[in-house]
Amino acid sequence: VLRVEGLRKSFGTTPVLRGIDLEVREHEVVALIGASGSGKSTLLRCITLLESIDDGQIFLRGDDISDPRVDADRVRARMGVVFQQFNLFPHIRVIDNVTLAARRVLRVPRAEAEATALALLERVGLADKAREYPDRLSGGQQQRAAIVRAVATNPEVLLLDEITSALDPELVAEVLDLVRELAAEGTTIVMATHEMEFARDVADRVVFLDAGVVLEQGPAADLFAHPREERTRAFLARFR
Ligand code: ATP
Ligand code: MG
Repeated sequence: VLRVEGLRKSFGTTPVLRGIDLEVREHEVVALIGASGSGKSTLLRCITLLESIDDGQIFLRGDDISDPRVDADRVRARMGVVFQQFNLFPHIRVIDNVTLAARRVLRVPRAEAEATALALLERVGLADKAREYPDRLSGGQQQRAAIVRAVATNPEVLLLDEITSALDPELVAEVLDLVRELAAEGTTIVMATHEMEFARDVADRVVFLDAGVVLEQGPAADLFAHPREERTRAFLARFR
């Protein structure tokens, strides 16, 4: 579904991504782990075309989305994206947040978009919050609504960047449970996370980023049990 080849990105003179190759297959759940500053967020921002790239290519179902001539809005409508915080637009109601992309980009009629949105909100227990503004929801509810918004357009891949790290500990589980459900349903997911236990449980494959390169990757169980690289071992040791 998603393929990144030789991706390079510098901020000023500082190289942040130094030749990333990554392939994500349909229905696969990939966890991106690595120390703070290793480039996880930058990689996700490049994939979602929120950041320009210096070199390399990004393919979504075979389409070269790194081609500067592509319509970035159209490409983004094919992906679901959730960040650490400030995901929902504060000035519009939850239901409008969820239907925005479908209506504006995909031109789905309002009634149809709202029916889909309500069904999804119902499923995650937020139907009664549909007409509220985001600031009336708890952090966990906001993140669940943000995930609903991200999947409302049936994206080809769902990209999640530390979506629980701004939450109070008691709200983390409700958000991770939703991701777990989506994963079980076959949603293709790439998630940057510091939740190692969650990564081990849910991810099919774990990719360890170190200073802008993929240092090591493999099936979650293998990588956690038998990291090959010294730096992976040192990183994982912090979570034991
Ligand atoms: P964390 O685990 O803390 O979220 P990360 O792996 O997501 O870290 P990035 O946010 O991708 O790391 O940052 C990688 C490097 O790029 C860091 O050194 C950061 O300071 C730098 N960087 C990120 N965004 C910018 C920017 N807009 N301008 C300049 N430098 C940036
Ligand atoms: Mg980050």
